[in-house]
Amino acid sequence: MNPSVTTAPPARPVERVADSQVVMEGAGVPVRRVLPSRLVTYNLVDPFLLLDHFRVQAEMAEGGFPPHPHRGFEIITYMIAGGSSHSDSEGNQGIVHAGGLQRITAGRGIWHGEGLGAGESGSTEGLQLWINLGRRDKQVPPGYQGVEAGQFPLWSIGEAQVKVLVGEGSPTELRTPARYFDVTLPAGGSADLPLPADYQGFAYLLSGDGLFGSNRQGATAGQVAVLGAGGPLPVVVGAQGARFVLAAGAPHREPVRWNGPFID
Ligand code: MN
Repeated sequence: MNPSVTTAPPARPVERVADSQVVMEGAGVPVRRVLPSRLVTYNLVDPFLLLDHFRVQAEMAEGGFPPHPHRGFEIITYMIAGGSSHSDSEGNQGIVHAGGLQRITAGRGIWHGEGLGAGESGSTEGLQLWINLGRRDKQVPPGYQGVEAGQFPLWSIGEAQVKVLVGEGSPTELRTPARYFDVTLPAGGSADLPLPADYQGFAYLLSGDGLFGSNRQGATAGQVAVLGAGGPLPVVVGAQGARFVLAAGAPHREPVRWNGPFID
């Protein structure tokens, strides 16, 4: 053995596949909660606390999410259809359109209101991801950033088209090292998606189905595949193609005190 030779980590298996569940949020807006859940606990996907998939008709979106506080983590709201408006207690205001995202660092504390606007289809759809802050960052000043659709790098990996929401070349600033990809694969397409070996996370299917991980675990739209330990994630999708988000980040491995909108 030559200790100076580093070998690439083996392809990752998928630890488990789980369903998302419909819950009520804000002013009675139904959302699909992908995580956390009974099967997808924080320790498996640390640093990711929560993922909600909202898809509502315009009239239902009007109540939106009235002003409320957060503390101790970061939020990325990625719009798939329609738009989202933001205003907060720091005086930040912003609107993002389909394909863009808003990043909030709640840090030591922030109040914000979230409005939803309809797209051409008459509906509003997006993903809200909560990323924990490390203990050293819990008291950082709050912040806000809007990134529009055209600002993200687009990679071709295998047969996949990868939009880099967070990662090398993306303007999105997060305090936790992470990658967050919007991945599209054509019918029967495959790719080995690169991930640092120390990252944890998940893939969540927006449409289609596929086999995820070196152990080829089947998952379909609305399901989440939790990543096991390893390097790149192999994916082969079915006859309809597939679209999914892949989120992976450096785990904090610190205890979490979860109190509603506060993560201390
Ligand atoms: Mn909020």
